[in-house]
Parts: sequence; structure tokens; C-alpha cells
Amino acid sequence: MRLSRYFLPVLKETPADAQIASHRLMLRAGMIKQASAGIYSWLPLGFKVLRRIEQIVHEEQQRAGHIPMLMPTLQSADLWRESGRYDAYGPEMLRIRDRQDRDMLYGPTNEEMITDIFRSHVSSYKDLPMTLYHIQWKFRDEVRPRFGVMRGREFLMKDGYNFDLTKEDALHAYNRHLVSYLRTYERMGLQAIPMRADSGPIGGDDTHEFLVLAETGESEVFYDSEITELKFGDRQIDYDSHEACAAVLAEFTSRYARTDETHDETVWAEVPADRQRVARGIEVGQIFYFGTKYSEPMGATVQGPDGKPVPVHMGSHGIGVSRLVGAIIEANHDDKGIIWPEGVTPFHCGIVNLKQGDAEADAACEDLYSAIKGLGLEPLYDDRDERAGGKFATMDLVGLPWRITVGPRGLKNGVVELTSRRTGESEELAPRDAVAKVAEIYAPHHPHVEAALREPMEGRSFHTWM
Ligand code: ATP
Ligand code: MG
Repeated sequence: MRLSRYFLPVLKETPADAQIASHRLMLRAGMIKQASAGIYSWLPLGFKVLRRIEQIVHEEQQRAGHIPMLMPTLQSADLWRESGRYDAYGPEMLRIRDRQDRDMLYGPTNEEMITDIFRSHVSSYKDLPMTLYHIQWKFRDEVRPRFGVMRGREFLMKDGYNFDLTKEDALHAYNRHLVSYLRTYERMGLQAIPMRADSGPIGGDDTHEFLVLAETGESEVFYDSEITELKFGDRQIDYDSHEACAAVLAEFTSRYARTDETHDETVWAEVPADRQRVARGIEVGQIFYFGTKYSEPMGATVQGPDGKPVPVHMGSHGIGVSRLVGAIIEANHDDKGIIWPEGVTPFHCGIVNLKQGDAEADAACEDLYSAIKGLGLEPLYDDRDERAGGKFATMDLVGLPWRITVGPRGLKNGVVELTSRRTGESEELAPRDAVAKVAEIYAPHHPHVEAALREPMEGRSFHTWM
């Protein structure tokens, strides 16, 4: 993308009503615009990040064997009356009446609807296990929408639902979700710690929340510092194996880690004092096992092996897709702006032309631009006729992890500068080597870049100035 043709409405002033860094930076970097309280338009840059996060969620859900689908945002109240939640949910539910005077609602979650789909089409235990999920907008009329997309009223969530014949199978689904979530957050450059939590209005026995540590988090959390040393990394897990998933769950949940709702002073006292940490966290996901809470009242049964009908065991599992954009920024920024982790960055690399209009500099930038695009990556080329200082400030604010700076002086020596946004360190490299380095950095995130790397760099579209 050429910046001169992009829509990136950056703000010079710091918005006064934004209380936390992520909200300020998302407004300043032109990622979102508030439409009304807790409801946002996603401008092109913000939309790109949202899509990257969604993509990672889809890939990891499908890796775990979960099946994507899409349910509507508007639901009929009838289903919610069946489960008893129409009255129980309270004023957070946006209730709507259609022209026929039918009670509708904008879905805050989808347990009822998915249970209805299941009972209409599945009748035998042979069709189980099954986990269906979608990524869809939700509406909750929060008392205090705040912190931008972190606590919105309309927000994007991945919600998944498992259907199993036995409690044991449903607990495996729970464990499998925990494993897939660990991997999902790590790909986004986040450490999200599973913490024992309270089940709230969804109801049920087992639940963990995933929390990203951040000073601005809304939850108070208590944890054993050893837990922050655990990494899921590049493990190859057989998601069908009960033992393999249970082992990961045991590893990641055996140390003390709880939200204030489940905090227990007696158990806490057993954690060695030098490892006790009290901090704040942002909830980016939650998993539940709730057994037959919905299947029983709604008649979601299957015929078991002995021919008798049994209610299915269920769980639901959510990831706050739009909240993650804010959470990632909370965990990755400095006073100049955002610092995107490579896994979710909206553009992979910035190109700054220090002297727009200089024939050599322009040509070098064009070559870099097409070489990076040729790798299947997306560069953002600042081709505006602006001062270098302004261009650097925009790049720092927008937070692309890597920047290639091109100027006539460097080109005389055959070099450009490759700078890391995170460390601020720069390296002078021949343009070809800068491209190769960018390719190497992104290869773990993009299989197509890895494939391109295996081909020789010769013969790529570089001009003779190299
Ligand atoms: P919270 O306690 O923060 O209100 P919740 O526990 O009610 O959230 P869940 O029903 O567990 O939310 O929804 C799954 C995920 O959706 C949460 O972990 C969170 O990341 C996200 N989420 C929930 N409410 C909001 C909101 N108002 N704005 C943005 N994301 C949200
Ligand atoms: Mg929750």
C-alpha cells in the first residue's frame, strides 16, 4: 500500500476522553472512530488488524478440529424463554421488537441458538463429538462502556460450543480448547494466563479465564510467578488425544493463578512469598464446561449406544476478538506509539523515502516495494512529499515492527537502513539483504514466505542500481 493513496486519518492531538494507552493510540493511529457509546467503526488500519486476529483464531480453531459456521446477530426471544435466560439476562440484553410485535434481541451470546440447531439435526451419539464455532458481532448493553474496543457494547467474539456424549468427552473438549487458546494467544505475541474463574450468568462447573497482564486491566489477579515462565511454543499436539491435552492443561493450571472472584487466601498462603504476584489483567477469553444446563431444558438429546435418549454434555468457549486489538496494544507500546507483534501487524514493513522526487531514491523504494510484495508480504510505503521527521513519527505511531529507510546518501554507498520498532536498532544493508532479512523474520508466520526463501534471491525484480 502506498500511503499517499491509503486512508489513514492519524490525529496530531491526543484525544482527551481516552483514558488508556490502547484507546488513545487506536484513535491517534486512525484505526477506529466512535459511532456511539461503545460502538465503533473500524477504519482500514484497525480493520486489517482485526482481520489478522480473526485469521489466527480460525486457523487455530480448525487445527483443533472445530467446525466454522455463522449464526445471525438477531435472535428470537422464544429460544431464550425456553432456557429461562430471557428474563434472567437483565438489562445488558438489547431487546428489540419487530413490525409483527415479535420479541427479538441482539445476541449477547449463542448457547440457545446453537442448541436449537443441534437438536434439529443431530440425533445419534455416532455424530459426536462435535464442536461448532463462529466469529460474530455481539451486543451487550454494558453499564459503563469504556476503554475503546476493550469494553464495547458491540464487539466481535469467537464463540464455540462443544457437544459430547459423556462428561469425560466434554472435559476433553474443555482441555482441547485450553490448548488451542494457549497457541492462539502466543501466535499474537501475547502471554495469556489461564486462571480459575467464576462462571457468572453462563453457569456451570468448570471455567478458566485467559488474562493478559496489564496495569490497565479491569480484573485483579493473583498468581505464582512461575507461571509466567511457561511457553506453549511450537509443540505438535494431537488434539484428539485426551492424555496429551490433559497434560498441557495440568502443566498450565497447576500453579496458583486466580481472579479476585475465586481468590482463596488459604491456598494462596501455600505459594512461596517470593513468588506471589498481585497484578491486573485483561480478560481475552474464557472456557466453560456446563454439562446439560441447556441440553436438558431444550431437549437436545441423542440416542446413546443402548438406544436410550441422553442429553448431551456441552461447553462454550469465547475469545474476545475485538478486545484483543486493544489488549495487544496495552502490552506492546511506548510513548511514540504502537509496537505490533509480527503475528498481527497490519503491514509487515514500512518503507520511508527520505527524498521523494529524487530519481534514485524513488526507484530504490519502488524496487523494495515490489520485492516485498513479491514475497507475499504487505509493505506500507510512505511516498508522501513530507519531511523525514513527520514520516518517522507516523511510522512509529502506526507501529510496524520493521522499517526500511531509503535516502540518496545511503544509496551512494549501496545501502538502506533496516530498523526494528521494538529495539530502535538500525542496520545498514544492501537493499537485497534488507528484503532477505524481512523475509526471514516473517517466514515463521507465513508459509508462503518460507517457500519463497527457499528459492534463490537472484532474478528478482531489482534494478541495476543494486
Ligand atoms: P467481562 O467479564 O469482561 O465483562 P465476560 O466474562 O462477560 O467479560 P464472556 O461471556 O466470557 O465475557 O465473553 C468472552 C470474551 O469476550 C471475554 O473473555 C472478552 O474477551 C470478550 N468480551 C466480553 N465482553 C466484552 C465487551 N463488552 N467488549 C469487548 N469484549 C468483550
Ligand atoms: Mg468471561
